[in-house]
Amino acid sequence: MGAEIIDGKAFAARVRADVAGHVARLKSDHGLTPGLAVVLVGTDPASEVYVRNKGIQTREAGMNSYEHKLPAETAQADLLALIARLNADPAVHGILVQLPLPRHMDSDAIINAIDPAKDVDGFHILNVGLLGTGQRAMVPCTPLGCLMMLRDRLGDLSGLNAVVVGRSNIVGKPMAQLLLRESCTVTIAHSRTRDLADICRRADILVAAVGRPRMIPGDWIKPGARVIDVGINRIAEDGRNRLVGDVDFASAVEVAGAITPVPGGVGPMTIACLLANTLTACCRAAGLAEPE
Ligand code: NDP
Repeated sequence: MGAEIIDGKAFAARVRADVAGHVARLKSDHGLTPGLAVVLVGTDPASEVYVRNKGIQTREAGMNSYEHKLPAETAQADLLALIARLNADPAVHGILVQLPLPRHMDSDAIINAIDPAKDVDGFHILNVGLLGTGQRAMVPCTPLGCLMMLRDRLGDLSGLNAVVVGRSNIVGKPMAQLLLRESCTVTIAHSRTRDLADICRRADILVAAVGRPRMIPGDWIKPGARVIDVGINRIAEDGRNRLVGDVDFASAVEVAGAITPVPGGVGPMTIACLLANTLTACCRAAGLAEPE
């Protein structure tokens, strides 16, 4: 029996439509338009694609999109000055600095210069701390999207064994925090983990965020488990370039209860959650009730 394929593209379209509905009501009832500023330093091709897509989807949701493209050699002080201006601009409710930044910049210092209330990526240490202590935080977009898909499928997650493979600040750690908040029993695995296969086999929920093509085969997966594949890996195969996840989809789909494909799974949810976070930031700034 094959797993249910979780259609992240369709799910993300629903989230974006929901956000657009809220934005329209904010405009008509309160004369407010949420604004998202995206800052790109340099010309990394993948980052340029992400930033372009973010701009398009922000405008499609009825929000204002402000794009700031700076040359790779921009001085850190100039980037900090731009962030200070965006922090002070009441038309800007969300600020996203596209990572990775050029090597001469201190990413932590840049991220922590963003007003935490406008930190729609949820990477500011204040938001990390709020999430870790179970308080109202801006939640990083990729793990938030993963959680939304899991809750949509499973409803109550409490008591389930969740294994997160990967411990980055962007995906693995916040994912684990979110699952803990849902009362899962959480294991975080990483490159030094022993017996990774056995740990994965105990997972009712398996989240793979590693960046290694197809490293998790079907026989590491508990029958019926929900598998969320965050990995995006570009490989050359059969004479063409392909995107594959961290999970070996062909074998995993035979065992899992549900699984996200790559592409078309987690990826589209990330930008949808960015829009949702920008809407949330706008409502909080205006003292209005947050959308559910
Ligand atoms: P990082 O490189 O920051 O982290 C990778 C993690 O995987 C690390 O914690 C590392 O462990 C762990 N790891 C590496 N090798 C192994 C191994 N053999 N066994 C177990 N764990 C291992 O990556 P990110 O978290 O930023 O991204 C992970 C993947 O998700 C990438 O493919 C990325 O492209 C994708 N991604 C997708 C997004 C989306 O929107 N869909 C958004 C963000 C990322 P250690 O800490 O010990 O080094």
